[in-house]
Amino acid sequence: MIITVNPATGEQLESYPELTGDEIDARLDKAQAAYQDWRKTALGERTELLSNLAQTYEANKDKLARMCLAEMGKTYASAIAEVEKCAALFRHLAQDGPAMLEPERWSLGDGKIAEGRWLPQGPVLAVMPWNFPYWQVARFLAPTILAGNVALLKHASSVQGVARLMEEMLIEAGGPAGLFQNLSIKSDKVHAIIADDRVVAVTLTGSEGAGRAVAEQAGRYLKKVVLELGGSDPFIVMPSADLDAAVAQAVKARIQNTGQSCICGKRMIVHTDIYDAFMQKFSDAMRAVKAGDPMDETTDMGPLSSFEQRQTVLDQLALAKEHGAKLDFGGEALDREGAYMSAGILTGVDPDGPFASEELFGPVAMVFRARNIDDAIRIANAIPFGLGSSVWTSDDGERERFIRDIEAGMTAVNQMLASAPEAPFGGIKRSGHGRELSRHGLHEFMNLKTVMLP
Ligand code: NAP
Repeated sequence: MIITVNPATGEQLESYPELTGDEIDARLDKAQAAYQDWRKTALGERTELLSNLAQTYEANKDKLARMCLAEMGKTYASAIAEVEKCAALFRHLAQDGPAMLEPERWSLGDGKIAEGRWLPQGPVLAVMPWNFPYWQVARFLAPTILAGNVALLKHASSVQGVARLMEEMLIEAGGPAGLFQNLSIKSDKVHAIIADDRVVAVTLTGSEGAGRAVAEQAGRYLKKVVLELGGSDPFIVMPSADLDAAVAQAVKARIQNTGQSCICGKRMIVHTDIYDAFMQKFSDAMRAVKAGDPMDETTDMGPLSSFEQRQTVLDQLALAKEHGAKLDFGGEALDREGAYMSAGILTGVDPDGPFASEELFGPVAMVFRARNIDDAIRIANAIPFGLGSSVWTSDDGERERFIRDIEAGMTAVNQMLASAPEAPFGGIKRSGHGRELSRHGLHEFMNLKTVMLP
């Protein structure tokens, strides 16, 4: 049985019976049967479904938002924004997706032509996290539909209501049965599904540990895998930056989704010439962050997604102190019902020590002082992750150095990094491999068939 709990109150929400082995088997059969039909559909039918899905999400956004607010505590405003972003992605691929599937042509030396055709491959399994429970799944679902593949979802245990609603939305939008099935299972069942011949590939968004486990199994069975894993993104501020804008975005980046975003700036790396000024403004703004009822419009952040998640962050902060770091303020459990904690700042972390590599999935920022740009880049790259980064400078030379030298899948210049339906998303190093979104994400699980024409 999987039980969901409201982190704002501690109340039990619902119990979901886990699928039995026979039920999983039946769903895999259904996925395979659905694939045999869906792979032959015209592109127009697929784009029509994506457009309908966009409308269905828009029409149901209040219901969808309330479900994820209840299951993982994000604010109502951010939940609505997340649902709208999914609709924007469905619409984007409905409009611009077909052009991404146009065949490519190459002239061969002997005067003949080779053509590359983008073809589907079969049922793809997605293992997904709770932090953006609609958006993470939509990033996989939208290209799956357009590609002619079919989707199987193993969502995080804590957001089973979201998973069920997403399956319902697909049917409500007119999608065929079996095109997108939710598998209500715990993670111990994932390995057998990856091994199953009816599944052709797997994508996972989640922690490094889960990524390793899934990639090992995918490797054993030679299945393609895309991994979107954790990060501890650098947020670098140079003296030429607009300091007020940088501070405002640093706060937003660090507290959005109560600090539980893979690409939010987690390590603030500040040039020594402006360190004190930055710290003054950043501390004032972080102290003013209001944690509270996710339905209240004046709330900056809701509770952590679960009591366990809050305990993980509190344990990490205790470990940081053991390693000689100093919690300037905040980072404490709030004395009230629910998994709330205060926003805070951690200084004195050794940039090359083991704690700097911890992903703090809560609203506490590490701040580092950099002597110069070389030092800033060195600190940024001193960890095994390489997901995103945000750099603040008005100097063109510095900007190009950051773009060239920061080891990350994404670099945002003078802005907080955020994913966009149109742009590729993904990391390097231990943040994973492969890309989602854009034509690069669409092609990940497709067969680029080379056709030699006479
Ligand atoms: P998680 O514990 O790794 O869980 C993610 C998913 O993997 C869940 O569905 C989980 O199922 C499943 N899972 C866990 N261990 C597994 C295993 N050994 N084998 C197969 N499946 C397994 O991560 P989380 O705490 O939910 O999410 C936070 C992490 O995700 C952070 O590290 C964050 O940075 C990362 N993330 C990355 C991105 C990105 O795009 N790069 C985006 C968002 C989040 P259960 O829930 O049933 O355990």
